[in-house]
Amino acid sequence: MSASARQPALRPAVFLDRDGTLIDNAGDLGDPDQLKILPGVALALQLLLKHNFILFVVTNQGGVARGKYNEDAVVQTHARLERMLCAEVGAPQVICEYYYCPFHPQATVEKYRGEHEWRKPAPGMLFAAALAHAIDLEKSWMVGDQERDVVAGAAAQCRTILISSDRELAAASVGDFVEKDLLAAARRITASVVDVAMAGTVALHARRSDILSDAVFQETIKSMAQALAQRTGIKLVRIEFETNCVTATVEGGDVIALGFVAELRRDSDRWWREHRGAESPWGSM
Ligand SMILES: [Mg+2]
Repeated sequence: MSASARQPALRPAVFLDRDGTLIDNAGDLGDPDQLKILPGVALALQLLLKHNFILFVVTNQGGVARGKYNEDAVVQTHARLERMLCAEVGAPQVICEYYYCPFHPQATVEKYRGEHEWRKPAPGMLFAAALAHAIDLEKSWMVGDQERDVVAGAAAQCRTILISSDRELAAASVGDFVEKDLLAAARRITASVVDVAMAGTVALHARRSDILSDAVFQETIKSMAQALAQRTGIKLVRIEFETNCVTATVEGGDVIALGFVAELRRDSDRWWREHRGAESPWGSM
């Protein structure tokens, strides 16, 4: 019942720190054989994928800058991590792309020495992913076990969750939420979208194509929809106009959306007859 022929919408993502968030490691891991996925991670990722989040890993890899391992080792480690996650999650692909930053101001390997816009707390990796994969940053989340993770997420306009059981760190954090592990974070994230996931969309079709190009009528429909939402307590997710139809998306599913649009049709019909002419602006529903 949704309207067709729109621009593809930007998609929400969850940006995931790697060490201490997905895997049991305090940093500097360049050996794929040392990978250990943390408990609850597979369930958490399943939950996020089920809610249509695109997942990215964004990880600082200062170990490369310090000469502990090279970039090839990072790539191999991520390839194995992806295979392990796919097996545990039961999906052909789990992480859309692995971003890493090998730079560090105190690097011993000269070519990696210096500040870099990708190095968290800077948000460069999130911006790169957003550009490459059409991500809606404001509907996205950043999750990590260090303050620099949530600082990077906030700088990219994402909502943020710090993973920590340390009360002092939690109290001082700029993170929007603090959770004890990735599973709790995933539950927090998906709870925030469950209503939208159950949204219903219904279209009202205009009788003629010039009716919805009437700017005053468009504005009137928008304010009527807002007023109706307020009156009924139904949450209006969005209202969109195309040449021949207007679509309303509301929380609660298609039956609620049908009732909402029927009401909107009645209100707008009345306005049109008073201001524009005797015939209804709408075709059959
Ligand atoms: Mg970490």
